[in-house]
Amino acid sequence: MKIVFHEKYKRVYTYDPASEAGRIENILEALKGYEFVQPEPAAEEDLLLVHTQSLIDSVKRDALVFEVASLAAGGAITAAQIALNEPAFGLIRPPGHHASRDFNGGFCFFNNMAIAITKLIQDKKVNKALIVDIDLHYGNGTYDIFSSNENIIFLNMVCQERQKYLAELKERLEKAKEYDIIGVSAGFDTYEKDWGRSLKTEDYNTIGSMIKKAAKSCHGRRFALLEGGYYIPHLGKYVKSFLQGLE
Ligand SMILES: [Zn+2]
Repeated sequence: MKIVFHEKYKRVYTYDPASEAGRIENILEALKGYEFVQPEPAAEEDLLLVHTQSLIDSVKRDALVFEVASLAAGGAITAAQIALNEPAFGLIRPPGHHASRDFNGGFCFFNNMAIAITKLIQDKKVNKALIVDIDLHYGNGTYDIFSSNENIIFLNMVCQERQKYLAELKERLEKAKEYDIIGVSAGFDTYEKDWGRSLKTEDYNTIGSMIKKAAKSCHGRRFALLEGGYYIPHLGKYVKSFLQGLE
């Protein structure tokens, strides 16, 4: 398991909960001892795999946001490439799953997951991918980008009572067929003290284990990218719990 991380993800790049001071630091503290890899920013041609020039130009109007968002997309690409050989986690921000081809919102600027998966497919490293979105909120950007793409299975979980949630995820993972890699949009805002008020720390371990098991059908290829998760005091604890299940 490798953690993809850049010091610049600590920057408070805007005024939203994903950019809040201390959020990344809490996770970093919990992940001491893991091997870290520093990514490069995504190139503009990588952003263009998924986004329109006009959306990219709109993000560029704020130089700091563009710098950190390009690094987050680059971190996603690196995590996906590492996953061809071993599991990886992109400890990145801003998140991405609400960013579509030509619009963004919900604290997202570029769709990190969509860029990473599209690049792997373009580079012929994989043909098909399963994207599992466990964030509290619907991954509308990811859905829009891939809705007419038959090479992508998009499994979006809706927050609900924890036992039902885990049972549904298990069932849906077992039904998913034919993919070469699994990418997890790992939002932690489903946590019992976060906005979703549902899952406990150990549930994230269970989710990680389910993904690992599902990845047996794709040579173990799996990676996760940080999306939401705003209860800063405990955040690192359940990110770690998830990664222990995933590795
Ligand atoms: Zn969310």
